[in-house]
Amino acid sequence: MSKYWSELTKGLVPYVPGEQPKVQDLIKLNTNENPYPPSPAVVEAINNFDKGRLRFYPDPNSDVLKQALADYYAVEIHQVFVGNGSDEVLALAFMAFFKQEKPILFPDISYSFYPVYCNLFNIEFQQPALNDEFEIVLDDYAQDNGGIIFPNPNAPTGRVIGLEQLRNLLQKNTESVLIVDEAYIDFGGETAIALVDQFPNLLVVQTFSKSRSLAGSRVGFAIGSTELIEGLERVKNSFNSYPLDMLAVTAAVAALEDKDYFEQTRQKIIASRDWLDTELSQLGFKLLPSAANFVFVSHPQYDAARLFAELRDRKVLVRYFSSARIDQYLRISMGTRQECEALITALKEILV
Ligand SMILES: *Cc1c(COP(=O)(O)O)cnc(C)c1O
Repeated sequence: MSKYWSELTKGLVPYVPGEQPKVQDLIKLNTNENPYPPSPAVVEAINNFDKGRLRFYPDPNSDVLKQALADYYAVEIHQVFVGNGSDEVLALAFMAFFKQEKPILFPDISYSFYPVYCNLFNIEFQQPALNDEFEIVLDDYAQDNGGIIFPNPNAPTGRVIGLEQLRNLLQKNTESVLIVDEAYIDFGGETAIALVDQFPNLLVVQTFSKSRSLAGSRVGFAIGSTELIEGLERVKNSFNSYPLDMLAVTAAVAALEDKDYFEQTRQKIIASRDWLDTELSQLGFKLLPSAANFVFVSHPQYDAARLFAELRDRKVLVRYFSSARIDQYLRISMGTRQECEALITALKEILV
């Protein structure tokens, strides 16, 4: 604490991201990054980028990227918002829509950034509990609220909700904004973008960090009704006019255009997930069904914190959360087939 800090700063409880180790020799299965590099088309587009242009500010509206996203998802350009990673898109959306009289709702187990934003923006929240199978119980959200948000597939559980269930909730919840955080939707499940024309209070948020191998470029986006996007633009333009740099836009557009590469890497990750499912089950792990690029696992005989530490000793980094209900689970991101095999080899050493 410093006397120079504002009361707001003193009261913050910042988000702690998974470790980005400074050494290169770790097998990194802890932050749900893509194990494959960005598309060769992305590398080429960055190489061909005229670096002299960097003296100019970028287009404040990132229209080239917005149009590419609008074409890709068959929506209008004014239904698209882009930001510096979906974390920024989410933060702006919390400011734009969730600062209300009534508390907002999100699950007791979900993305741990949500309570951090609430704390920063002084937003009240309630957290309906996942059921014993770690599923979101949508009936719990059909109550008076200042807004609703959850990841779909949920993180860190990996469980997914179908479009029909979402539609059902939207039919009941018409007075507040529902944000569906689809950071992992490309790995399983159906995007709710198909519902935005029907429900003006639905905002779908996605990212280039996971399925498009661009976590380092920081590109996120939201798709929703014109009125929601206008609200986001108002907040964005009261905060930072140029959230996306020219290289990030160049990379993102090229990634979006290379549909073949996207499909190949996506399928490889899904195949890794199926393979790990079998291997981990054989080692006695219990796995939740995952629609994401990670699995959420526990072992009836081994303490999760201990497994985490022993894996790290063997240079395999996974994610451990010490929070209530999930402190006996590990979240393991999908690596390449080779990395997944190294994980299994390490676990076989530990579980003797
Ligand atoms: C990774 C993740 C994000 C953040 O993604 P960025 O675009 O890299 O900021 C948002 N929501 C969930 C649920 C995530 O897992």
